[in-house]
Amino acid sequence: MPTDNPLLQYQALPRFDCILPEHAQPAIETILAYAEPSLAKIEQSVTPTWKGAILPLRKLLEPLDFAWGVITHLHSVMNTTEWRTAHDALQPSVIAFSLRVNQSDSIYKALKTLRSGTAWSTLDETQQRIVAASLLDAELAGVGLPNEKRERFNTIKRELALTSTQFSNNVLDATKAFALNLQTQADIAGLPKSLLAAASEAAKLAGSETSTAEIGPWVITLEAPLFVPFMQYSTQRDHRETLYRAFVTRASSGDGDNTPLIDTTLKLRREMAEILGYTTYAEVSLAQKMADSPSAVDAMIERLHSVAAPAAQRELEELRRYAAQHGETKTLMNWDVAFWSDHMRETLFEFTDEDLRPYFQFPRVLEGLFDLAHNLFGITIAPPESEIPVWHEDVRPFTIKDASGADMATFYLDPYSRPATKRGGAWMNALRPRQQTPDGKITLPVATMVCNQTRPSNDKPSLMTFNEVTTLFHEFGHTLQHLLTTVNEPEAAGIHNVEWDAVELPSQFMENWCYHRPTLIRMSEHIDTGEPLPEALYQKLYRARTFLAGSSTMRQLLFAALDLELHHRYRADGTLTPDDVKRCIGSKFSLMPFIEQDRFLCGFSHIFAGGYAAGYYSYKWAEVLSADAFGAFVEAGLNDNDAIIQTGQRFRDTILAAGGSLHPMDVFKSFRGREPDPNTLLRHQGLLEKEG
Ligand code: ZN
Repeated sequence: MPTDNPLLQYQALPRFDCILPEHAQPAIETILAYAEPSLAKIEQSVTPTWKGAILPLRKLLEPLDFAWGVITHLHSVMNTTEWRTAHDALQPSVIAFSLRVNQSDSIYKALKTLRSGTAWSTLDETQQRIVAASLLDAELAGVGLPNEKRERFNTIKRELALTSTQFSNNVLDATKAFALNLQTQADIAGLPKSLLAAASEAAKLAGSETSTAEIGPWVITLEAPLFVPFMQYSTQRDHRETLYRAFVTRASSGDGDNTPLIDTTLKLRREMAEILGYTTYAEVSLAQKMADSPSAVDAMIERLHSVAAPAAQRELEELRRYAAQHGETKTLMNWDVAFWSDHMRETLFEFTDEDLRPYFQFPRVLEGLFDLAHNLFGITIAPPESEIPVWHEDVRPFTIKDASGADMATFYLDPYSRPATKRGGAWMNALRPRQQTPDGKITLPVATMVCNQTRPSNDKPSLMTFNEVTTLFHEFGHTLQHLLTTVNEPEAAGIHNVEWDAVELPSQFMENWCYHRPTLIRMSEHIDTGEPLPEALYQKLYRARTFLAGSSTMRQLLFAALDLELHHRYRADGTLTPDDVKRCIGSKFSLMPFIEQDRFLCGFSHIFAGGYAAGYYSYKWAEVLSADAFGAFVEAGLNDNDAIIQTGQRFRDTILAAGGSLHPMDVFKSFRGREPDPNTLLRHQGLLEKEG
């Protein structure tokens, strides 16, 4: 392969200083031109051994993984027209090639023989898990099916892809199509300035070119950045009602009605499950997850429900009382809950995001985070000794060293928002896994950590909201799992091969430290006065964490239970409709009954157009794991630093080290000495009394 193209230099750190969009196409074409015949050769010569099947595939895929990883990364953080064009043009051929590897019959047969033969016992546990995962991947992609079944399977796959796109488009169209027009000062009563500015922008998009934030007109659509704060802040009850009704009936009528697509999707998913030898689609989804059966998910939901339901009921009573005391004369309805909750929160805790912001200067917060990592895991994080090229001047590279001073990993932190070219949200991207090459050398892992926090302004550093602080800790948790792995097989190193419902464990675990008093106080310093966060403000922040915990748990449980019901017990050929199922599940999980016109399933993109089908429970599942992992530190004593260090070391040696080399239940048990206990989460959220 020619090596003057920096995207082909996969054995070094990416040359971000000289990688250009015009490198993308020749790099991918070169790699694929070499990989296609190599794959054909592997298919002919594959043998049912680790060396004869997995290692050649690893070698085949490494240059592609690297180049495509860098391209998709730059596409998300430097999204210029050139990068978008390059990325979009290449994506189909990259996906097609990956599918061809995944669905290769001869490789599948070799791996199957390997699993059932005598060579199986010569593989260690990590290797066995890698082979088993590849086999399952292939099987769920339809490999191994007899011809006539495979044809039907492929047809279903294609239809489901179309249905999902159509579903999502209908939701997007309906979300955009609705507009609440606001003209007068009465219309905008209660709305904060930031929302008025956004609503004025929306009005301009809708054609009111002269709109300003101060004098309007304003437009509120059903898009989250407008819809959510409007429901929180607007004192105009009739406007909230209009907006709410529009939201829960999105994509439920006319040309863009998603009702028939829901039926088709559920029918096709069940048929697909049956072709694959499962009874329901939920079983297919769970085959690749930590939860081993729908009944395990049911059990978690039931346990959390039994405690959250009465708590949520009490919270609702309190909210009703509070609203009545503050002048609400009508019965509280669905469109009142967010408004009064927010009102009550402000009265109870008397602080806003803006009150906290001056205390959280980014450089200081980062120092606090790295100190915490040093204390917990014995690692040292610092800028690299020699210069490492980056893709933007905002970006800061870091190296991680262990206690002996040996290099462990490199990561890049891209902290600030750049709305014009950077995708929103925050994420960790695994650029390279740890691996041991055949000559025994260890290649160290590399990750990118991307946030979208407030930019520095003038001579002031980035002042972070508390939410931006917890997001930074969250992504750092993902980064640590990828970088502190001790697994040498790249397919199971770091975040690779970690089950989807367990992958949020280290990230949510790290968020807990933002409420740990010594950690939080140490990283706070008021930008003007230099004072740390006052104790009274810390106490309010801490108490606000569990405000309305019962109600928010119930909301997540409603979605999880409904998703599981539809993909497991529900029969599309029976007499009930999905909407009937929704009402039935709602009677148990929804505090306020759905309004009669409610059709929120038509807008439930997570399960009908996203990756969460029979997987919505994962949010709560991972929360149970992360809260219980943090519980080990609580039990050891959060004020006892020796105990924290010991427990931190154990966390590093088990959860952060194991990556995807073991079943997550085994990993969890090796840290906690037992299976996860949902009660820890319930106590953590203030829903259960502390023991003792
Ligand atoms: Zn995450």
